[in-house]
Amino acid sequence: MPSILNADLHCHSVVSDGTLTPEELAARAAANGVELWALTDHDEIGGQHRAAAAARAHGMKYLTGTEISVTFAGETVHIVGLGFDPDDPRMRQGLQATRGGRGQRAQEMSAQLAKVGIAGAYKGALRFVGNPELISRTHFARFLVESGICKDTSEVFRKYLTEGKPGYVPHRWASLRDAVAWITQGGGVAVIAHPARYRFTANEEYALFTEFKAHGGQAVEVVTGSHTPAEYVKYAATAREFGLAASRGSDFHSPDESHADLGSLPYLPGELTPVWELVADRIQ
Ligand code: AMP
Ligand code: MN
Ligand code: MN
Ligand code: MN
Repeated sequence: MPSILNADLHCHSVVSDGTLTPEELAARAAANGVELWALTDHDEIGGQHRAAAAARAHGMKYLTGTEISVTFAGETVHIVGLGFDPDDPRMRQGLQATRGGRGQRAQEMSAQLAKVGIAGAYKGALRFVGNPELISRTHFARFLVESGICKDTSEVFRKYLTEGKPGYVPHRWASLRDAVAWITQGGGVAVIAHPARYRFTANEEYALFTEFKAHGGQAVEVVTGSHTPAEYVKYAATAREFGLAASRGSDFHSPDESHADLGSLPYLPGELTPVWELVADRIQ
């Protein structure tokens, strides 16, 4: 596989907090010219067999995927896994445990929102949920937009769902070590997702990359929907500094919400090792 490839290795379906089914995403990716695709639902691999079959039907290459929620230095960090065995029991059990606290957390979010005058948020969010084990902040955001409380989901996050805001409930996710182990033990490659999104100091970010490498992590997202072109350049340098391969993915969630469509971002900078070279034997 060449490094100039329309690979989109990060997106979400109704199995987590996206609004399209795996089949609808595959059709959209194929229509946009994606050649190599991965569905990376949050803490879930329930859509993997459907996504792989849909990719095949459209003539796209496929890598298995997930995006694991990790707590590192008090912040939530996302680790994308690509090319792992979706039937590996360690991955299945690890993700199940990671999903486990979401129901309780959602009830607490709802109780906190009620205190600032927003009633029925748990029930309201549930109406947007495709997978009962995966209620996320995104579903609350859609409910608050539907209720007319905010004009879009960004405004909901800004006003209600981020740290220090009334609906935010801190949660303890997987450890970095475990997430990387679940991915690599199943033959996959671990990728630090959208590094520019974390509110780390330079020292904390250095620690994240150093520990990630020490645990066996091998790649970082350089070109992704929430990075600016300046951040592509910054994290291309970080990839070289840490000897990591580079990934590319839109992080597409919904035609109405996502700023980057499937397969629409710039190619990876040429001098980087594309992540798909590390899992060439896992491409279906
Ligand atoms: P959760 O896993 O429940 O904490 O929800 C995290 C999800 O919320 C992310 O995967 C994004 O889809 C979404 N999200 C996080 N921050 C924002 C934001 N500022 N604007 C819109 N969506 C966001
Ligand atoms: Mn999401
Ligand atoms: Mn993410
Ligand atoms: Mn994502």
